[in-house]
Amino acid sequence: MEQLTSILIKGGTIVTMDPRRRVISDGAIFVNDGVIEQIGKSTEVKTQSRAEFEIDARGKVVLPGLIDIHVHLAQALIRGCADDTSLIDWLQKFVWPLQGNFDAQDGKASAELCMLEMIESGTTTFLESLLHSRYGFDGIAESVERSGMRGILSKTVMGLPGYGSEKSIMHSGMIEKAETCLREVEMYFKRWNGKADDRIRVWYGARSLGGCTPELYAQIARDAKRLRTGVTMHLSEVQEDVRYANKEFGKMPAEFMDQVGLVGPNVVFAHGVWLTEKDWQIIARKGASVAHCPSSNMKLSSGMAKVPEMMNAGVNVGVGCDGGPSNNCYDMIREMKTASLLHKVRTMDPLTMSAETLLEMATVNGARALGLQSQIGSIEVRKRGDLIIVSMRKPHLTPAFNPISHIVYAAEGSDVETTIIDGEIVMENRVVKTLNEPEIIRNANDRAVKLLERAGIEIVPKWRPE
Ligand SMILES: [Zn+2]
Repeated sequence: MEQLTSILIKGGTIVTMDPRRRVISDGAIFVNDGVIEQIGKSTEVKTQSRAEFEIDARGKVVLPGLIDIHVHLAQALIRGCADDTSLIDWLQKFVWPLQGNFDAQDGKASAELCMLEMIESGTTTFLESLLHSRYGFDGIAESVERSGMRGILSKTVMGLPGYGSEKSIMHSGMIEKAETCLREVEMYFKRWNGKADDRIRVWYGARSLGGCTPELYAQIARDAKRLRTGVTMHLSEVQEDVRYANKEFGKMPAEFMDQVGLVGPNVVFAHGVWLTEKDWQIIARKGASVAHCPSSNMKLSSGMAKVPEMMNAGVNVGVGCDGGPSNNCYDMIREMKTASLLHKVRTMDPLTMSAETLLEMATVNGARALGLQSQIGSIEVRKRGDLIIVSMRKPHLTPAFNPISHIVYAAEGSDVETTIIDGEIVMENRVVKTLNEPEIIRNANDRAVKLLERAGIEIVPKWRPE
């Protein structure tokens, strides 16, 4: 990556997402050595020395980089391989056998494909939820380092090959031993946490209910506390989670997680579709966060998370794109719109989940969920230089009275023109500078074909091409 020390962005509309939610027209931002040093009107920002790189942002909107708090890097390679099927079939017939046949080269190919898509659609930080050993943790971490992205990599921890009450249903290639998992998290934590100028963090990725014993969850909580790191886990994604927690432990899912010590400010629960008021109160009181993944929940018919209600109860909620077979894309701009529309129709209240709320969820709430609120999530002096620039001179973004409305309701990921992470220009005028796009696409196509062969899965379109 080209190492620039200073960037001046001038003339754009800056959506700061600072505590006052200032929007600055004809604004300027000066980023030096990875840090935002100045922000204000173009006429006010005076740099002592000439910036190494200047961006003319007239007719463009500058926003904080988007933060995706629920991603499966290893599912980009199996995009579109499990459509229109029930969750258990989705897992058992497609996703697990495919991922259970991954090798480290597939893991790397998938992660690079996924990051390419995220950078191109304005995501600058992500939380990867479950990395199995077989995906090759080191290779993926090296790719994150090279990509320029800010990424939290959670290594899977599991002890039982089940999902809810369904025992031993996991593909043999997906099963890992609890002791090995715990040892590996610690090993990768020592090796990678804080690396790449602190762009990489390592967390615990606890398997969902039915995948760990209560003792293992408690162990994860203790270990994460000792390492001062985070934990993420799928919780109440499907109704089965609630049934299982009630039957096995006589408790609601969040109540059970709290009992084993796994609800705290360092915890992100993915989905939370079937969380109840009781769960929200525990999560809010303990300062944990929820990743809302509307596309995935809708496509798999998991249900509709009560997000506005949860947020009213004090829960910090961010947005997640989930994975290639469940979404099937990693575009946070599309996801914001989907989330807003889902809740407007669910509650029959057009005032709920406004464009402003969605942008908060995808920036400041995401940063808080990851414990990175002092560094990212808004454009403020002393925060890291994670910024995206969107061109508004397009038919579908005209007329431009309210940039926030356009970003959430009218734009798509491909409208992002420039992506800057940690003060480095990672994508300029839609060209990703850190990753080799043609090679990554070629490699992903090749590897996906071979992976399907190895797994013995054939994707037969209903309308078969002649
Ligand atoms: Zn997920």
